[in-house]
Formats: sequence, C-alpha cells, structure tokens
Amino acid sequence: MSKPRHTKCLIVGSGPAGYTAGVYAARAMLDPVLVQGLEPGGQLTTTTEVENWPGDTEVQGPDLMLRMEAHAKAVGCDVVTDIITELDTDSRPFVARADSGTTFTADAVILATGARAKWLGLESEEKFKGFGVSACATCDGFFYRGEEIVVVGGGNTAVEEALFLTNFASKVTLIHRRDELRAEQILQRRLFKHPKVETLWFHELEEVLGEDNPKGVTGVKVRNNQTGEVGEIPCKGVFIAIGHAPASELVKGKVEMHHGDYVKVEPGSTRTSIPGIFAAGDLTDHVYRQAVTSAGMGCMAALDAEKFLAELEDEGTELAEAAG
Ligand code: FAD
Ligand code: NAP
Repeated sequence: MSKPRHTKCLIVGSGPAGYTAGVYAARAMLDPVLVQGLEPGGQLTTTTEVENWPGDTEVQGPDLMLRMEAHAKAVGCDVVTDIITELDTDSRPFVARADSGTTFTADAVILATGARAKWLGLESEEKFKGFGVSACATCDGFFYRGEEIVVVGGGNTAVEEALFLTNFASKVTLIHRRDELRAEQILQRRLFKHPKVETLWFHELEEVLGEDNPKGVTGVKVRNNQTGEVGEIPCKGVFIAIGHAPASELVKGKVEMHHGDYVKVEPGSTRTSIPGIFAAGDLTDHVYRQAVTSAGMGCMAALDAEKFLAELEDEGTELAEAAG
C-alpha cells in the first residue's frame, strides 16, 4: 500500500463551490488538493447557456467550469482526477480514501460534493434509462432529432431542458404535477410562447412505455391527478427534470444534516458539526442552489478552513512550548 498523501486542506468536489474554495485556499498558502469526482466541473457541465453568472451576459456552462478549473490550477491548487469513496471523520488528521487506491490525510476538509439528479423511482424509468430515458438534455438531446419528447418537472431545470430540446424535437410536452411552474418568469415566458412546446398541467408520469427489441421508448402513460383519467403520449425521449438531491453519502450519519440529507452548517458560516470539516454549495443549500451562491460558499469555506488551521497551529505551538 502506498504512503498516504497529506494536505492541510482537502477539497472534495469540482463544481463552482469546490473550484472557488480551491482558488481561495491556494492563495491562502494552504496547498490544497482538490478531488474532482465523477463529474469534473459539476452540474453546470450538463447545461448550455448560463445567463446569470455575473460578468458574463451569456456563457456556456462547460466553458465556465473549464475556466474555473484553470484558475484554481493557476494559483496552485492541485486538481486530482479521482473519487473519494470513504471519509474517516474520527481520526486526526482526517483520512479520505479514493477510488484509485490513494489515501489522503488532511487537517481540514471542504466538502463541495453538490447534488445529483432525482428520479421518479418507477420500474419502467429504470428499465429505459439510457434507452430513451435521461436526466440530461445537453448530453442526450441530439439523439432525438425530429422526434417527440416529454419532459417531467416544473422548475428551472425542466423549463430550460424543454426549451433546449426544441432545437432537436418536433414537439416537446412538459408534464407538471401542478398548474404553476417554479421556474423564473423569464424562462416561463419563453416556454409559453414557443410553438413546439405543449404544457400538460396536473399530470403525473405513471409508466414509460417501450419495446425490448431494439430497446427503446415509444411513449408514456400519464395520469391526471385531479380527475384520475389516464392517457398515453407517444414519444421517443423522456427527460426527468424533477430536481436534485444533495450528494451527502460520504458523511451520512457522521455530520448533522437537515431538510432531507442536506449537510447542516452554522448560520453565516460553512462549519459543520465536526470541527475541521466544512461544507459549501448545493450540498448544504436547500434554498438558493445557484452557481454564484455555491461559489460564494466555496470562498467562505476556504476562509473558515484557513482560520481553523491557524488556530490549530497556535494550539500546537502552545502545547509544544508548555512541554518545554
Ligand atoms: P456541483 O456543481 O453539483 O458539483 C459537485 C461536484 O462534486 C462534482 O464535481 C462532482 O464530481 C463532485 N463529487 C461528488 N461526489 C464526490 C466524491 N465522492 N468525490 C469527489 N468528488 C465528488 N445555476 C445557476 O446559477 N445558473 C444556471 O444557469 C444554472 N443552470 C443549471 C442547469 C442545470 C441543467 C442544472 C442541473 C443546474 C443548473 N444550475 C444553475 C445550478 C448550479 O449548477 C448549481 O447550483 C451548482 O453547480 C452547484 O455547485 P456545487 O459546486 O455546489 O456542486
Ligand atoms: P426544483 O426547483 O426543485 O424543481 C423541481 C420540480 O420538479 C418542481 O416543479 C417539482 O414540482 C417537480 N417534482 C419534484 N418531484 C417530483 C415528482 N416526484 N414528480 C413530479 N414532479 C416532481 O429543481 P430544479 O429545477 O432542478 O432546480 C434546482 C436548483 O437549481 C434551483 O434552485 C434552480 O433555481 C437552480 N437552477 C437554476 C437555473 C437558472 O438559474 N437558470 C437553471 C437550472 C437550475 P412542484 O413544483 O410541484 O414541487
């Protein structure tokens, strides 16, 4: 077994929160190591235009994340392609094991593991995942040129996905369980005036219909949740866009959580219930969940970690002096 790699500050995650923490921690001379995870760049790499990142009227999500990565590297953050599979929060320094077999030890850890797409949990959804069922329009929209598509959800993601899919599809039906969307007004206006989009209110997806040979989707069975009426919509693609859940498995049962698995931090800080472990971004935020707020929290986490490490060093010096 190779020797563990020690760092003062380990950052887990490479979304806006992780990279911003990387920039600030590197400039604070903490020599941070950032582990990127399965999705280098995070959720913004699954979208196209980002129109609310200050300083850029419009920027492509993947481009923005490449720039953040380059920025973090340029100031001295060591960006590592790996996945943390286990975090020992009892030992000091903390011990993090990675998928590659590398073990990291760290005096402080910044968790910025973000969030992951939620699924409806239907058997038929699982069966056709990758064969017509997707949670990423930018990744898979291209496969449905000239076809009919269904999108499920009523938030920003669902509306953006529906609009993006109009670039390929002959028709996009947005299915929502209520008669009101959560999405921003500007997006709603674009959706409602788009000639290729139909919105189906008060409907829920009951089943994805498809064939086995070749495996593919042929339609969906939907239910009106007001009348109970069941109907079918023919389509080749089904995009589930019902939100995201925090990726908090690494610290489940170890740090305090709230609002269904979001890591709890002290108000106005990024301190979790374990001193030395900090959390930033969508992992800890059930309210705002934006790139810019995540980046802001990444900055806070690095500054909180810097203060924690300075206090740790002072304690160490005092103990050494007392011991003579
Ligand atoms: P994420 O971006 O979720 O990144 C999490 C990171 O953690 C990933 O790099 C992942 O690989 C890593 N990770 C997870 N587990 C591990 C592990 N075990 N080990 C190592 N690494 C790990 N926001 C806006 O402000 N404007 C927009 O226009 C916008 N558009 C969006 C469009 C879509 C389709 C989606 C899904 C979201 C959009 N958002 C938008 C929301 C925005 O993307 C998120 O708020 C933001 O990305 C959260 O940043 P984060 O750093 O907290 O986490
Ligand atoms: P979200 O805002 O949580 O919306 C999820 C939507 O899915 C809601 O409309 C919800 O319905 C519906 N839904 C949830 N569970 C469902 C189920 N089991 N069956 C049917 N429908 C279900 O999630 P999001 O749209 O992914 O957005 C997440 C965050 O990222 C938000 O903060 C958002 O602002 C941000 N984001 C921002 C942008 C942007 O700024 N342009 C783009 C994308 C995302 P109800 O409405 O009935 O609850």
